[in-house]
Amino acid sequence: MKHNTHIYLAVKAIELIRQSVDNMTDNKNNYLKGSAKAKERREALKCQRTLQYYRDLIEEASWAPDDVLRDNDPYHIFKLFTDAEFPDHNLINKPKFEKGGITYYKYAGGLPHRIDHMAQEIIDMSKLRDRNDQFELKQIMYKYMLISHYMVDAHVPMHCDLRDDPPQKRRDNEPSRRKGLNKPKGKYMKSSAHNSLETLWDQAVNPVAIEEEIIQRTWVKEKIKETKLSGSIRFGLKDCEKDQIIKTSIIPKNGLMEFMIDVCITSKKRGQILFPLEDPKQRNATVLPEVTRDIFADCIGNLISVWRYIWAGCQK
Ligand SMILES: [Zn+2]
Repeated sequence: MKHNTHIYLAVKAIELIRQSVDNMTDNKNNYLKGSAKAKERREALKCQRTLQYYRDLIEEASWAPDDVLRDNDPYHIFKLFTDAEFPDHNLINKPKFEKGGITYYKYAGGLPHRIDHMAQEIIDMSKLRDRNDQFELKQIMYKYMLISHYMVDAHVPMHCDLRDDPPQKRRDNEPSRRKGLNKPKGKYMKSSAHNSLETLWDQAVNPVAIEEEIIQRTWVKEKIKETKLSGSIRFGLKDCEKDQIIKTSIIPKNGLMEFMIDVCITSKKRGQILFPLEDPKQRNATVLPEVTRDIFADCIGNLISVWRYIWAGCQK
């Protein structure tokens, strides 16, 4: 995702933490109720206030993985493909994941590993802080914001789709794409597809983020007039009420890796809707507003769920 989109989604997640408990399910997929829900709400409020206190860190931290760490390959991607896309691939030794009767092969990438590892690192930092005052709360909250970058990237279908990497010698100017000529034969997206869609989303975000004072306008190219997609990326408290589009869940202990692989598979499936199997060079314009809304809502809900996982891990 682009710079302002990363900031916007992280700020939205903070804004909606407390309310999102209404739409939170446990590991049996039931809505929380009674004392469990009340406890969850109290913790959500504490987590929200702490993140809000350090909100100014977002601008740097949510962008640092692209700008400073530059660990795009492998850590911002999880490139999946299917037999239907590349019938003659012969890559039988690649890691495989089964979902809904379909096999997803991983060609490259380590995004879920990065998130799982970073979450554990934050939990460890918090334990050391409690024991010997080794870390400042500010450092810990910086990491919460940093992890938001990887979470958001996981929801970008192109980051989870091998078809986004047409065979080529040199690295694409989009750093999340892998270089290399040794790719299976099949239909790939246009080389401009990645940048084009992320730009479209950023343009939809800018007017809303400026209006809600989430970002400051620093360039005339940041338009204040809403685009056709702006309605799809606008969210408020109501969207986190029970049965609404922003859903959160209790990720079981040690269950983060599985959760993230699932997020990436969902992302890949959305890639197949946006860039259909028969001709991935044509983006499906009809479904774009709806799929955009699903992607952005999941970004926010799943980021809150991962923050909640870390927060709960820190309390033990
Ligand atoms: Zn990135």
